[in-house]
Amino acid sequence: MARLAQTPGLTEVQRSILDTVREFADKEIIPHAQRLEHADEYPADIIDGMREMGLFGLTIAEEYGGLGESLLTYALVVEELSRGWMSISGIVNTHFIVAYLISQHGSPEQKQSLLPRMATGEVRGAFSMSEPGCGSDVSAIRTKAVRSGDNFVLNGQKMWLTNGAYSSVVATLVKTDLGADSVYGNMTTFLLEKEPGFGETAPGLTIPGKIDKMGYKGVETTEMVLDGVTVPESAVLGGVDAGLGRGFYQMMDGIEVGRVNVAARACGISIRAFELAVAYAQQRQTFGAPLARHQAIAFKLAEMGTKIEAAHALMVNAARLKDSGQRNDVEAGMAKLLASEYCAEVVQEAFRIHGGYGYSKEYEIERLMREAPFLLIGEGTSEIQKTIISRGLLKQYKL
Ligand SMILES: Cc1cc2nc3c(=O)[nH]c(=O)nc-3n(C[C@H](O)[C@H](O)[C@H](O)COP(=O)(O)OP(=O)(O)OC[C@H]3O[C@@H](n4cnc5c(N)ncnc54)[C@H](O)[C@@H]3O)c2cc1C
Repeated sequence: MARLAQTPGLTEVQRSILDTVREFADKEIIPHAQRLEHADEYPADIIDGMREMGLFGLTIAEEYGGLGESLLTYALVVEELSRGWMSISGIVNTHFIVAYLISQHGSPEQKQSLLPRMATGEVRGAFSMSEPGCGSDVSAIRTKAVRSGDNFVLNGQKMWLTNGAYSSVVATLVKTDLGADSVYGNMTTFLLEKEPGFGETAPGLTIPGKIDKMGYKGVETTEMVLDGVTVPESAVLGGVDAGLGRGFYQMMDGIEVGRVNVAARACGISIRAFELAVAYAQQRQTFGAPLARHQAIAFKLAEMGTKIEAAHALMVNAARLKDSGQRNDVEAGMAKLLASEYCAEVVQEAFRIHGGYGYSKEYEIERLMREAPFLLIGEGTSEIQKTIISRGLLKQYKL
């Protein structure tokens, strides 16, 4: 058989992009990831390399200076980047979601003003729904926008913004009391522009500092305080006529892209864990034979490989569905659920195969052990994925 996680039916262009990114991961990411991650250092050189390759514009339409590639290409690129280091895929993830939101739901002026700069990576995007008091339950957000003449004034606190500091535009979901019957019809997404960095990065908008995390280091995750931030109507995603009260639905569309991304990340980390384990199992000798010759270890490798194939297939299916213009909430949920749960299992098995050395910071598997759990949480926990999947299934199979 071929190596794991092959994807049938790719175009010449897709294959060439993936070959380039894989080589980049091998030469420019993997050799530096451990050092950068342990130092929690922003990977500036790697980002420069990605900008040179045009990766920030991968999915942005050619008319705005991007490469106009599909969600599938994006997902497979994310898989390669995460095989190198998950934090690198984190840097592009919220950027892609925001670029997608603007492409799908933005006004012509928003597209014209932001997408060309996003395609070069000059402007990078962050995505903000969560708050200190809520993550899974988006309906409970409290940050508010209130009209003041032709402007809106925003007040509140947001939590867990990946790329909160180095981004220049934050797609931010807030409450707008419009008198709609459903709580979901009273939410609006604003495109908040700011300077990159920490402190007061736009009048009234403060990025206090980065949250110290267990893993997923190098990429910053922050809070965002909005204290009387005043923005014109044109900051509403899609403009007031199309966008007011549509924020929740727009964000859910974006998060389907994010879920495919998380599934792809999980595949990338699993592939790397497998590579490390399968190499170690052939080198380390116990009881007169390499580990891989002991059936208990060989069976672990078999199970790991099978899980990777299943997760990759589901992830590719979810990406292709979204590319065909259909909603993929259930499929993206399934891909995210399976890939992240399998990733945690595959990484744990790779860790065990390493014996004591897996616990040493000198070995890459130590980092993967701290990264894999995040995938069970980000873009909706496994429980939330099961809620979405079961709702979709019950609708399809309604008696
Ligand atoms: C490193 C990191 C980066 C992040 N980046 C971003 C970002 O860029 N933008 C952003 O908006 N958010 C971001 N998040 C937030 C993330 O999306 C939330 O943490 C996640 O959605 C879970 O929300 P919560 O932490 O509030 O957990 P809670 O919603 O409080 O859930 C706690 C636990 O209860 C379970 N649970 C909750 N409700 C139910 C239910 N109805 N039934 C069964 N179980 C339930 C959950 O599955 C979970 O296990 C990030 C989080 C982290 C850790």
